[in-house]
Amino acid sequence: MVESLEYDLVICGSGLAGLRAAIAAATRGPSLRIGVVSKVQVMRSHSVSAEGGTAAALYTDEGDSIESHVYDTVKGSDFLADQDVAERLCREMPHEVYQLEHWGMPWSRRKDGRVDQRAFGGYSFPRATYASDKVGFFEMQTLYDTCQRHERIEYLNEWFVTSIVHDGRRFLGVTAIEIATGAFYAIRAKAMIIATGGAGRLYSFSTYAHSSTPDGLDMAFRAGMALKDMEFVQFHPTGIMPSGILITEGARGEGGHLLNSEGERFMSAYAPSKMELAPRDIVSRSIMTEIAEGRGLKSMTGADCVKLDLRHVGDEVIREKLGAIREICIKFSGVDPSEEPIDVRPVCHYMMGGIHTDIDGKTEITGVWAAGEAACNSTHGSNRLGANSTSECIVWGRITGELAADYVAAGVPQSPWPHHVVAAEEARIYGEIFKGSGDANPYEVRQTLTDTMNEFAYVYRDEAGLTEGLRRLRELRARPWRHVEDRAGEYNTNFVNVMELDSMFRVAETVLVGALGRQESRGAHARTDYPRRDDKSFLHHTLAYHGTDGPIMRTSPVKITNYQPVERKY
Ligand SMILES: Cc1cc2nc3c(=O)[nH]c(=O)nc-3n(C[C@H](O)[C@H](O)[C@H](O)COP(=O)(O)OP(=O)(O)OC[C@H]3O[C@@H](n4cnc5c(N)ncnc54)[C@H](O)[C@@H]3O)c2cc1C
Repeated sequence: MVESLEYDLVICGSGLAGLRAAIAAATRGPSLRIGVVSKVQVMRSHSVSAEGGTAAALYTDEGDSIESHVYDTVKGSDFLADQDVAERLCREMPHEVYQLEHWGMPWSRRKDGRVDQRAFGGYSFPRATYASDKVGFFEMQTLYDTCQRHERIEYLNEWFVTSIVHDGRRFLGVTAIEIATGAFYAIRAKAMIIATGGAGRLYSFSTYAHSSTPDGLDMAFRAGMALKDMEFVQFHPTGIMPSGILITEGARGEGGHLLNSEGERFMSAYAPSKMELAPRDIVSRSIMTEIAEGRGLKSMTGADCVKLDLRHVGDEVIREKLGAIREICIKFSGVDPSEEPIDVRPVCHYMMGGIHTDIDGKTEITGVWAAGEAACNSTHGSNRLGANSTSECIVWGRITGELAADYVAAGVPQSPWPHHVVAAEEARIYGEIFKGSGDANPYEVRQTLTDTMNEFAYVYRDEAGLTEGLRRLRELRARPWRHVEDRAGEYNTNFVNVMELDSMFRVAETVLVGALGRQESRGAHARTDYPRRDDKSFLHHTLAYHGTDGPIMRTSPVKITNYQPVERKY
């Protein structure tokens, strides 16, 4: 039996983007019934683990400017950002920093009492606004607190959304599983905001929460929306060995050095002016080049790495500004960063790609917006600058929340509810997946899939590797893994994990096919067989639409306003 619920607005995801959207929608439309649906408890969304900062050009009186933030973002994107979108991010952000402050955000402060900002990669001015090294945790707490003032926001925590219901043009609702009971629901609504975050668990060496799987991207893909620029995956230079937990760029912002096996600060050979604070794509490539040329080291597991040295930063600064980093190093690697350098290597950290939207976060289905990491409104192009993602979540959380509220208030025509579509989804989930048969262990399949992505679609790529990756992915998908061993209704995480795996196959394929098609090197996408950027043939976005035999690929233009593409040097 399909249970049902009804809301005016459904927000899928309770990270920074989802919560900011909920506040904006509830403020704009106080009578709206808003449901925030999340497969985890609110404060377990990946946003809580953001460490280093949130970018905003605050100190125009001290030499910073909005224009400089826009240019750094566009240059950082290797000129694939839509420049009007980047400008919107930078213009809106200062206000959002103060708005958060008024809601109680405990920003770290300077000695003169003003909000402090630290240096971050690729910026011409220190503009990462921070709260020690736990910026995401404090932002989430501030937003969640503020949400409590709005009685009409309801939380469906630990509900897994499985599909978007629409009539070919307009949004009608979603289907979801209540994880606590295993019951299947149809949730009717007039509007939806997709805020399901990034999908970095497509890779086995990853900074993301285990829940950061592509089911949100996949539900949009299956509903007919394009996934845009999926080949651009960000590898953060400093994932600690062996876990891959993030060591924030703030550690280099506070003065940390990267060293090779000769004890040299090798970044001087790659980015002499910015050194360790060059953008992430450049630092990650430099590390992999040092390793390939024999100047890497071996970590405790035998894997290649380089060293991040914080000793000269001093114990006092480390304890005050990098307290969580210190704890992570000691607990997960047995190293005190005040006393010893840390073993690090590039780690999957962010997806520039996501659900194709316009500058307002509007998707290709009427009544559906997307915000935060799940969306690709093209702010970051082919490489995001650190601290610009939490900013993007907050800015487009607000924008989409307001627009969705206005859309509902203007009156949405009623369409007949497509019972057959919901029945087909129920059959897909319970017939094909829950009751599926086979002897391939889905957890081993998931491990092989994420190892394949790590091996063939990592920092450097080439045609032979990507083709082999795609071959292995398709072969793996053909194995009999679609089954759930645990037959329980209540809290069946085995079921949820297999549903996540199902989405991983389709979305991983868009990454590999997009990467094969882009025969150039731009931003985070570095092809050893096409080492140059090729603006003549590839200054465009990649769109992937769902097709029965794999993704159908198209392109869309890049919006250039003030800055013509030039060679990117630091
Ligand atoms: C370790 C780490 C540190 C970072 N540090 C910084 C930083 O310092 N500065 C910066 O700017 N950026 C940073 N980032 C990036 C930034 O934190 C993220 O891009 C951002 O927080 C994503 O927020 P979000 O709201 O889009 O989604 P998330 O916070 O990822 O939340 C996703 C939500 O979607 C829900 N969801 C997903 N699928 C489903 C489904 N099928 N059904 C129901 N619910 C679903 C989840 O339950 C969750 O609530 C960091 C990222 C990581 C991983």
